Amino acid sequence: MSFDKDLMIEIRRSVAALCEQYGEDYWRKLDETSGYPTEFVSEMTEAGFLTALIPEAHGGMGLGIREAAGILEEVSLSGAHPGACHAQMYVMGSVLRHGSVEQLEKYMPQIAKGELRLQSFGVTEPTTGSDTTKMKTMAVKDGDKYRINGQKVWISRVEHSDLMVLLARTTPIEDCTKKTAGLSAFIVDLREAVGNGLSVQPIEAMINHHSCELFFDDLMVPAENLLGNEGEGFKVILDGMNAERILIAAECIGDARYFIKKASDYARDRVVFGRPIGANQGIQFPLARCLAQTEAAALVVDKAAALFDEGQSCGVEANMAKLLAADASWAAGDTAMQTHGGFAFSKDYHIERKFRETRLYQIAPISTNLILSFIAERELGLPRSF
Ligand SMILES: Cc1cc2nc3c(=O)[nH]c(=O)nc-3n(C[C@H](O)[C@H](O)[C@H](O)COP(=O)(O)OP(=O)(O)OC[C@H]3O[C@@H](n4cnc5c(N)ncnc54)[C@H](O)[C@@H]3O)c2cc1C
Repeated sequence: MSFDKDLMIEIRRSVAALCEQYGEDYWRKLDETSGYPTEFVSEMTEAGFLTALIPEAHGGMGLGIREAAGILEEVSLSGAHPGACHAQMYVMGSVLRHGSVEQLEKYMPQIAKGELRLQSFGVTEPTTGSDTTKMKTMAVKDGDKYRINGQKVWISRVEHSDLMVLLARTTPIEDCTKKTAGLSAFIVDLREAVGNGLSVQPIEAMINHHSCELFFDDLMVPAENLLGNEGEGFKVILDGMNAERILIAAECIGDARYFIKKASDYARDRVVFGRPIGANQGIQFPLARCLAQTEAAALVVDKAAALFDEGQSCGVEANMAKLLAADASWAAGDTAMQTHGGFAFSKDYHIERKFRETRLYQIAPISTNLILSFIAERELGLPRSF
């Protein structure tokens, strides 16, 4: 599939037009009430944007990660909070590459039509955190099912999704030759699971991300829901993770451009000491630096997305893209706060909400330190530090 620049421009225009109908007050209200943007997500799905990665044969648009990245960047740029719906895109990386023909035929057409939501990705655990392979949630084969016991934390949108891709151990780590072995991925049907072995506890948090604690107590999942081969779940999830890093990076680029535009507009209008504050280099220079930083990061995001679409190895590029874009959005958010002075703290200006939202990407889905250690080890050949 080749990248069509004109199509991308057209898609971006359409996404921007759709987002414009949901102004920033819509997102502010949801933030205040911990609400979920059901109408927005439905409209994005019906328009085909959230199903962009699903092949045309299954009713989707059959586009690549580059186009998906453009869609999420536009959503962020509009002032919206793509965290409410982005998982449908990045979970696709795992499902499309590793799903069996039966699984794809069963789920994809319904997801493409918006009849099924695949918005949840369950990896993180409370006692092991970034040390993913040490996870304790176990899935033990029991006849034609797997019996799952354990706990997950921070799993987002569970209450607003029908399906979840779950990572669990099927072989204890002590019995594996390497720590990434013995993990398996499953498609969990949340409509059947919740209340039947899976309980969900919402977490009150700094941003409106609908994250929950999950408790698995003899949850039975049909063996046919295994995604990829048993014991090879780490690879399945990794394909989703590279897509996730690239898509989150694109959201950060959208956030950075949003902050830079808001701050520049404000700096042109706000008059103090008899002139616009933007006439002062103390205000101009940080904004100019943020723009340069954002445009550089955007190039790396595009490079990683192109490699992903070509089916080439892109782990290092995807991680670099996430690191650089998250730094750019955080710097732009901080600069936008400084430019707005005291008004930055007023909810009416929306900056503080986006500032909180973009802060997440220094920590999740992978923290900055973990990316730096990955790059140091992989690209610089330095010894593993943990
Ligand atoms: C709002 C939100 C939504 C989320 N949604 C999901 C989701 O949908 N699905 C999901 O599976 N997870 C989700 N997460 C979890 C997220 O991926 C984790 O929080 C993240 O990976 C970090 O893990 P941790 O919180 O356990 O931090 P820890 O692993 O405890 O790390 C804490 C700090 O120590 C640092 N650190 C740890 N080890 C080292 C080391 N060796 N060297 C240097 N520094 C180190 C880390 O960089 C970090 O800064 C979400 C989290 C949040 C906050």
